[in-house]
Amino acid sequence: MEDMPADLPVEITVGVGSRRVGIDDINDPRVAGPLRSAGEDIGRKLANVLCPVHKKTAQRVRVHFDKRGGADLQYDSCCEQLGTRIGAELG
Ligand SMILES: [Zn+2]
Repeated sequence: MEDMPADLPVEITVGVGSRRVGIDDINDPRVAGPLRSAGEDIGRKLANVLCPVHKKTAQRVRVHFDKRGGADLQYDSCCEQLGTRIGAELG
């Protein structure tokens, strides 16, 4: 049995007014909690998505939540094939 890969670290930011703040700077746990969970969920999924060519995961995963709760995912990838896989995985 192979070990499950560790979750990828995800940098989570949130739109507050016209600013972009880190999830650790959100003082209200009712706001920060669900957004952090959603971001970590993405990191968990991406940890299992490997590029078919390079066998690498996404790097420097960032998720930004806007005021309406929409998520904008960004990450560094080794090539387009990894991006295609991630798109398919996350729907
Ligand atoms: Zn690749």
